[in-house]
Amino acid sequence: MKVTVIGGGTMGNGIAHVFAQYGNETNLVDVKQEYLDRALATIGKNLGRQVKKEKISQADADATLARLHPSTDLQVAADSDLVVEAVFESFEVKKDIFTRLDGICKEGAVLASNTSSISLTKIAACTGRPQDVIGMHFMNPVPVMKLVEIICGQATSDETLQKVTAWAKDLQKVPVTVQDYPGFISNRVLMPMINEAVYCLMEGVADREAIDTVMKLGMAHPMGPLTLADFIGLDVCLDIMEVLYEGFGDSKYRPCPLLRRMVDAGHLGRKSGKGFYDYE
Ligand code: NAD
Repeated sequence: MKVTVIGGGTMGNGIAHVFAQYGNETNLVDVKQEYLDRALATIGKNLGRQVKKEKISQADADATLARLHPSTDLQVAADSDLVVEAVFESFEVKKDIFTRLDGICKEGAVLASNTSSISLTKIAACTGRPQDVIGMHFMNPVPVMKLVEIICGQATSDETLQKVTAWAKDLQKVPVTVQDYPGFISNRVLMPMINEAVYCLMEGVADREAIDTVMKLGMAHPMGPLTLADFIGLDVCLDIMEVLYEGFGDSKYRPCPLLRRMVDAGHLGRKSGKGFYDYE
């Protein structure tokens, strides 16, 4: 099958990696050559790690790289059976991409988005073929994480769902189908838990280590919620809480003021060197 992945960042390079690894000719599109070079270097490094762990052979790694075709031209998507968009989490940027894809892609191609929180129904409505638009929400790091949350928009056809479910299985992933409501399942359940942990910290119920230890040792979570929030990025957590709060209009989703204050201060977690913990 022919696949085009749009956006070679954290998620896009992982998504392109797995499609190419499982035998698909895969275009990787980004806006600048240097972003593509960086994405391919990351994929090369991650394939090297898989070879070292004896999960794949060197020949598999070489064949995977040979199936990857970087480009700065969206037009390469013209003959793809599946397009997976993984650009910035901005409706305006995604709208522009899906409008253009509608004019470029062949009839019957599946147009998927890896969005974490934007309505698939709204993205699909940017095209004249909403029945072919669906969410394929991969988890970070893509080559390692088993789940693909598949999100059906209002108009997504059963045929599109069946195709995407089969393709996710071909990647040795476990697809789970959910309907298009704010935060889907993953973020609707995860983010309020993180938000509540931040409330516990703000109210002085316990310190950060205690909160994380309760969830790690008491609930067998591999990482405490504050450590996880630092890993995801506090700005991303706040944005998703805002989506839930706005989308449901329910005060139970109100973002914790401490989360907002941390983001205002530029303390975004690992990526900024400081969040609930220090990383410098
Ligand atoms: P990122 O910032 O790491 O990468 C985005 C990439 O898209 C960049 O390389 C950028 O140059 C490229 N891009 C931007 N506009 C483009 C355009 N018009 N055409 C082509 N490329 C363009 O972002 P990310 O973390 O990989 O997130 C991508 C998407 O995946 C978002 O919708 C995000 O919500 C979702 N997501 C992220 C995670 C995560 O853990 N990071 C997990 C699941 C889903």
